[in-house]
Amino acid sequence: MKLYNDLTRRKEDFIPLVPGEVRFYVCGPTVYDFFHIGNARPFIVFDVMRRYLELTGLKVIFVQNFTDIDDKMINRARELGITVPELAKRFIEAYYEDADALGIRRATVNPKATEHIPEIIALVERLIEKGHAYAVDGDVYFEVSTFAEYGKLSKQTLEELQSGARIDVDERKRHPLDFALWKAQKPGEPSWESPWGPGRPGWHIECSAMAIKYLGETADIHAGGSDLVFPHHENEIAQAEAATGKPFIRTWVHNGYLLMDNEKMSKSLGNFLTAREMRKSFSPLAIRLFMLSAHYRSPINFSDDSLKQATAAVERLRNCWVALQEAKATPSASPAGRGDVLSKEIDRLTGRFRDEMEDDLNTAGALGVLFEAVKAINSALRETPPPDAQSLKEAEAFMLDADDVLGVVGIGKEKDSGPSDEEVEGKILQRTAAKKAKDFKQADAIRAELLERGVVLEDTSQGTRWKRQI
Ligand SMILES: [Zn+2]
Repeated sequence: MKLYNDLTRRKEDFIPLVPGEVRFYVCGPTVYDFFHIGNARPFIVFDVMRRYLELTGLKVIFVQNFTDIDDKMINRARELGITVPELAKRFIEAYYEDADALGIRRATVNPKATEHIPEIIALVERLIEKGHAYAVDGDVYFEVSTFAEYGKLSKQTLEELQSGARIDVDERKRHPLDFALWKAQKPGEPSWESPWGPGRPGWHIECSAMAIKYLGETADIHAGGSDLVFPHHENEIAQAEAATGKPFIRTWVHNGYLLMDNEKMSKSLGNFLTAREMRKSFSPLAIRLFMLSAHYRSPINFSDDSLKQATAAVERLRNCWVALQEAKATPSASPAGRGDVLSKEIDRLTGRFRDEMEDDLNTAGALGVLFEAVKAINSALRETPPPDAQSLKEAEAFMLDADDVLGVVGIGKEKDSGPSDEEVEGKILQRTAAKKAKDFKQADAIRAELLERGVVLEDTSQGTRWKRQI
């Protein structure tokens, strides 16, 4: 597969570092609100990238973080009169509801910043030891001038970056672009103990620390919106590479902007839409099809019209699927035709579908191929005698594979619908045993694992009850 690597500014053959395994990190949401449709774009396109890599037989370790502590979290929690952990819990649940509804497969791990404070502190300490960071009044800053390659992702020098950036003047910083790794606690803010006093991590460091923890010091792919190139991803590279001395990420991929009626989405313009609101008007399949109708690196324009077109396109796909199922199920009175033409066409389109996906995930091209297949299937089904069972099976297999990657027909392999009743009961027994042995860590881990898979435990005087989340 070829991917456009923003680090080299070239389309390159993508070959994972460890054969057969892809280590893939995507910057996840800050969980202070419902995610908007601009955020839904990277979630959907990188879900498709992952699905395609999996279809080719690779194992993908997919990590997407939750930023559950930062200024936005603190301010919103204050507004709502709840704690930051309460706010995080509320919007992590909302994230899963919306993402599941949009057919976005769950990540291998969704690490939270607040659960990785020791890893973050260790990384900051390592940077101080190596002379790349300095502490002032309980804050710790990364010193950009100590990392010679700073700017290599955005392809700008320190001077160019400095003139283009909005920078708070802070006398305590050695260079205006130095950024916070650790922030000293301000009155009333949540904090953690650290060698520099109570405080909390900066935003950039959490991604470096969690990517290294789950994917190793060098990972294959790191993805996010193009608005994250600078400073977020530039800073992630600086922190990780200054600490480890190794290349942090081999392939950087970024998606283009989502515009609304040809304008940048913003709350002040009033053209701001959450994925949750969008789901009220359009089906998840139509939303996905719309998101995949442009190349992921190009801008895409959201409008009612484009979503109506996507809705009609999904209907065409689903009608074809239903007709195909009916043809398969209906025994033909006359002997079936040979279906050679259909077989040949499906074979050709299977190759072309792969070619489009291998070409830097050209989902627009792949969708085009899918619609060519629909045309071929519909026209074959109109013939008398109808095509034979073998060619119908081939057409069905093509549509299933295409949908397994794109998720726009709603026929793909079902996602994990949760553990079976037996498995849940077994886990509860294990947990009860762990509690008896006073191994509360293990007991909590079992509870968390089940919750992750949609099962809620409730301890009562009669023992543990459980139910599935809807
Ligand atoms: Zn990030």
